[in-house]
Amino acid sequence: MGDAVRGAVKDMVDVRAAAPGPMALVTVLMHGDETCGLDVLEAARDPGFAIARGRLVVIAMNPRAHAAPEGPRRHLGVDMNRIWSEAALEADGAEARRVRLLLPLMREAHAILDLHSMPEQERTFLLVSADRPASLGLARLLGEVIPRTLVAPRAAQRGCAMFETDLLAPSVPIVVAECGRHARPEAGEVARAVFLSFLEALMLVEPRAPQRPRVREDAVTYEITREVVLRHGPLRLAKPFSGFDPVARGEVFAFDGDVALVAEEDCVVVLTRNALRPGDEALTLARRRA
Ligand SMILES: [Zn+2]
Repeated sequence: MGDAVRGAVKDMVDVRAAAPGPMALVTVLMHGDETCGLDVLEAARDPGFAIARGRLVVIAMNPRAHAAPEGPRRHLGVDMNRIWSEAALEADGAEARRVRLLLPLMREAHAILDLHSMPEQERTFLLVSADRPASLGLARLLGEVIPRTLVAPRAAQRGCAMFETDLLAPSVPIVVAECGRHARPEAGEVARAVFLSFLEALMLVEPRAPQRPRVREDAVTYEITREVVLRHGPLRLAKPFSGFDPVARGEVFAFDGDVALVAEEDCVVVLTRNALRPGDEALTLARRRA
């Protein structure tokens, strides 16, 4: 690829097996400060790493944000995970150019795993789009590593993310893995484990004997019911949230400036963000699917 990237991260690994098989794509560093995916980039680059069939491509999506002079940043002004629509990609920014450059290669993928981490919460989850049913099937196969899957309706209040884009064929599953808290070693371990599970699910490697920790929880599916975007700001939480914390109908769970945010039904707070100003994405609420 011709997009020269300076900094510590080489931006792509491409591994091919002699035997034919599907192409698995793993995207890391869509947000430059979410470094858990670097463990996967390193694992795939290791000389001892091999796949039995098919092709594995690992792409560092926004290495410029990772290599920012002041240290890794989520983005450099434009969130690369909010521009995955035809209209947004017409913009002439570095992020849009990078996505346009990568799309032809990405369109060859049979399945995509998108590795992320979170600023505050530890509790891992998978995220899929309600408009892309194949993604839920893949998420089930990854449930031994991350048992919580969150199904998102089409974004109304924010730009289009990669997992819900129309720019990739709807038959291709795309699963986001939120691997834990930014920069924690545990998040890197989860990223590696879900990566191995992904390779097994696509049969790029033989299923191995259990050699990594497997969760004991049953897989549970949740649906996003509300994404809170600040109208006033800043966000203040009524109590600390560690991820998927239950909130009862009628409960005040946070404040948008001086305005109390009240739960309209029994639900869980999936994650909270450091939101300050009107328009900032603040909280995501979900309900357990029956
Ligand atoms: Zn992210």
